[in-house]
Amino acid sequence: MSRRLRILGPVLLALLVVVPSAAARAETPLEGRVVVLDPGHNGGNWTHPGAIAHEVWAGTHYKPCDTFGARTANDYREAAHNWDVALRLRELLRAQGARVVMTRSSNRGVGPCITERTAIGNRVRADAVLSIHADGAPDDDLRGFHVIVPARVSGQSARMVSRSNALGTAIRDALRDHGPTPVSNYQGTDGIVARADLGGLNLSTVPKVFSEIGNMASRHDAPIIESPAGRQQEAEALAIGLVRFLTGRRV
Ligand SMILES: [Zn+2]
Repeated sequence: MSRRLRILGPVLLALLVVVPSAAARAETPLEGRVVVLDPGHNGGNWTHPGAIAHEVWAGTHYKPCDTFGARTANDYREAAHNWDVALRLRELLRAQGARVVMTRSSNRGVGPCITERTAIGNRVRADAVLSIHADGAPDDDLRGFHVIVPARVSGQSARMVSRSNALGTAIRDALRDHGPTPVSNYQGTDGIVARADLGGLNLSTVPKVFSEIGNMASRHDAPIIESPAGRQQEAEALAIGLVRFLTGRRV
């Protein structure tokens, strides 16, 4: 090996390691991005009603720390759905290079409160936070997905609201084009609704939306929510929406 090569060799090697190729960047478009996934509720909430009912400040008013979540006629619980979809989505996002932070570590615990869930996204300065839910509307004919974006409340920044609206649009488009359920026939306009009553949005300083994949009380939506294939399709659609928001690229 020539003297020049001996010197340049390690430098070239370091460059190869440090600077990812265009192909590698295309495969991991979320490199360096932080995504917080917030699987709504928790599997143990039912067993600790007192702790769950404890009121916390939600930015505009006091409300319970958390809630039990919805369930299907077969008693499939929303908390289980939310956790399963979060695991599937985490895998998809990690494969694309993202750092993924979860707001709970299993489906066997209680809480955390909506305030702590939101603080997690704020603390890590997430590039995007997605709160994963399924709805519990009373009428069987009500069905389909909707995305909840923040309304501008006192103390909330215009930038957070506008970035969240962009995130909400990307998630809505992806669910509409790739998701397992149709656009909601009962909530919001074209699958998007702005709300001022959710601490998870009011207290967030980073872009954040809620995804409600369908109505667990609907005979049309429940089988989709209960099926692993339906939840995988949901996770894949949500990943497409997040990549689109974080990279500006249509995938
Ligand atoms: Zn929920």
